[in-house]
Amino acid sequence: MSYRGRFAPSPTGDLHFGSLLAALVSFLQARKHGGDWLVRIEDIDETRTIPGADQKILQTLAAFGMHSDEPVMYQTDPQRQAVYQQALAQLTTQQLTYPCTCTRKQLAGSSVYPGTCRNQPSKANKPHSIRVKTQNQSYTFDDLFQGVQIQNLATQSGDFNIKRKDGLFCYMLAVVLDDADQRISEVVRGIDIMDSTARQMYLIELLGLTQPSYAHFPVVVDTHNQKLSKQNHAKPVTHEDPMSTTSVALELLGMTPPTAAKKTQSSLLDWAIKQWQPERLRGITELRY
Ligand code: GLU
Ligand code: ZN
Repeated sequence: MSYRGRFAPSPTGDLHFGSLLAALVSFLQARKHGGDWLVRIEDIDETRTIPGADQKILQTLAAFGMHSDEPVMYQTDPQRQAVYQQALAQLTTQQLTYPCTCTRKQLAGSSVYPGTCRNQPSKANKPHSIRVKTQNQSYTFDDLFQGVQIQNLATQSGDFNIKRKDGLFCYMLAVVLDDADQRISEVVRGIDIMDSTARQMYLIELLGLTQPSYAHFPVVVDTHNQKLSKQNHAKPVTHEDPMSTTSVALELLGMTPPTAAKKTQSSLLDWAIKQWQPERLRGITELRY
């Protein structure tokens, strides 16, 4: 199987340095393997989408010399929605789902769903989300960066939502179908999402999809130990000087580009692809910016 990687930003704001790093790491990893690199706009949660953010993200990536090898996928595309709907129907036919009418307030304080609605008469006539039934499964994967991980559904999430009360499909369902349809062989993303992997492996199994491998790279924190994120208003990456921003990113990843490599953005990326050694990030959970 040939290598296929992806970068899957949510269009909820500008790219900040942490998300640029996500793009760069997935890009280097794909190119090092001579593989494809795809961009997918994860706009499944329409309530968080900022109009125009997708275009700005794609422009920023372009300014940094990173272009999707295939047309950019959008989760709001009606064809994608049909795929999610079909998967939900499949799980429902297999009696693996049930409606849940619990409110946020009722669930406050519990990180694992207590199973309240699981064995109650169907409440499908009230506003409800759809949960997928889980048992006490554990999943093990050998993460390229973080090593062997064991995650258990019962202690991590319990029965989890795949469709929201407001009718939107959940990230957890969409992402596995998108990765499968885009034939992604390795999922490279931030360590902050690592704990969703067992739920995704479970859905992949239920839906009979192909299991990708995983590579969760370290979170970028600022000098105050704060994770760089849109929530804490990390500065957007500017287009002005992609080469110096890329150089800072590469240094954070343990590579020091020589002056000769810094002629153009594309020569810098070419140098980085040759130098890229994912082993260097092994066991590292945090990078200080
Ligand atoms: N859309 C997610 C984000 O922007 C990434 C999800 C993933 O890579 O699986 O944080
Ligand atoms: Zn419930």
